[in-house]
Amino acid sequence: MVTSQSPRVLIVGGGASGVISAIALISAGLSADAIDIAEPRETLGEGLAYQTRDPHHRLNVPTSKMSAIEELPNDFVQWSSAPEYSFMERQTYGAYLRERLGPIHHIKDSVINLVGESEIEATFSSGEKKTYPSVVLAMGHGNARIPEFLKGVPKSPKIILDVWNGIALPQSKTLICFGTGLSFIDIAMTHLSRDPKNSVIAISGSGNLPERHVQSPVKPFSPSLEEVDTLEKLRDYLAKAGDSWREAVDGLRPITEAMWRGFTTQEREDFLSKDGSAWSRRRHRIAPDVADAVAAEIASGRITIKKGLVQSVEVTEKNVTVKLTDDTKIPGDYLAICIGRDYELSDPLTLSLLQSQSTLRGPLNMGLSVDVSTGRLQNPDGIAHANIYAIGPLRSGEAFESTAIPEIRRQAAAIARRII
Ligand SMILES: Cc1cc2nc3c(=O)[nH]c(=O)nc-3n(C[C@H](O)[C@H](O)[C@H](O)COP(=O)(O)OP(=O)(O)OC[C@H]3O[C@@H](n4cnc5c(N)ncnc54)[C@H](O)[C@@H]3O)c2cc1C
Repeated sequence: MVTSQSPRVLIVGGGASGVISAIALISAGLSADAIDIAEPRETLGEGLAYQTRDPHHRLNVPTSKMSAIEELPNDFVQWSSAPEYSFMERQTYGAYLRERLGPIHHIKDSVINLVGESEIEATFSSGEKKTYPSVVLAMGHGNARIPEFLKGVPKSPKIILDVWNGIALPQSKTLICFGTGLSFIDIAMTHLSRDPKNSVIAISGSGNLPERHVQSPVKPFSPSLEEVDTLEKLRDYLAKAGDSWREAVDGLRPITEAMWRGFTTQEREDFLSKDGSAWSRRRHRIAPDVADAVAAEIASGRITIKKGLVQSVEVTEKNVTVKLTDDTKIPGDYLAICIGRDYELSDPLTLSLLQSQSTLRGPLNMGLSVDVSTGRLQNPDGIAHANIYAIGPLRSGEAFESTAIPEIRRQAAAIARRII
């Protein structure tokens, strides 16, 4: 057991990735008092995904796969006493992370700069500076994505640009959502639960909703990397799976990072632009009972899904009207943008790391440049920093699927082994 009075590791960001990193370090033998977590939010373990207090917001990964501890894959099942194949409330997961973390030194501030190699000087937004031998970057997701059609539309309280900014969804009767993915499902269920007279109209180019998990677990296929090491082969593999697409998609999980890394830049771009939305819909599925609830609301007329392209948005003090390219006009009280987050970060720390050439953006401007074999940040010459690591969505450019808990806990365990 290593003990130290002065902190040895700084974790930047106290969302799921930061907390799971701390849990991994403590499991690997580091004393909790050797860790500082910098996180401006009041509560650790929440971040973007687990900050919600709405019981309608559920995990989209079964309980059996949500352990925060790589060596104890059943830990969340044991902690929650829930069935292995269940989909719990997301707020419960935040509570689990905090309980597994235990007492820790939480610096309620942002880190704005990091300088140095063997002793890294961290500057906090308060102006305070501290040095650490090791740093784990866990800054998570970028800003909410803003659709092109809003360029030139004046800012208005009637348009909610960031549905995850404190979950401040105003009360209203008719909510228009742009996007029909996972964020839409959460926002729609919150809105409908508030008043039986509330309704939602959701618009997207495909009109497709996320797929549902089936009632009992599927047995994933186990494809080899050679079967999917080009985009053409991947498309072929998925097409051949037919109705067994769940088994096919889930079977790719252990080799997704290697598959992505083997793709050319052109293949990655093509995949994101042409296959990305179908992939997300199938890869990130919703709990069976959430899917049933959404289907019931569609049948009752409280949710309307419109497939179409938005041409313009008109906003007044009282309402907002979305006009589609086929001239359909959709009036509502508020417009909520539900198309997820950017992987291109623009927070002060990222910008200063880019400016000092400590790193560069990851492939396709997603996340940062990271040596995924070690988790270390890379500079523009491809040289890995000796003591700065990056975890979670920050690795999306290099690893693609790097946001779900099974990936995050694996990365955290590997970083902890290296640091210890
Ligand atoms: C709505 C939603 C539902 C999801 N559901 C599931 C699920 O069911 N199962 C699953 O496996 N995965 C799920 N995920 C994916 C996954 O668990 C998350 O993406 C995960 O929250 C990533 O955590 P993070 O800590 O890396 O990022 P974030 O949650 O974005 O947290 C980053 C934190 O870093 C802080 N920060 C940023 N910059 C600084 C700085 N400079 N200094 C200090 N602090 C900083 C921020 O304040 C923030 O709290 C979901 C994701 C979302 C968005």
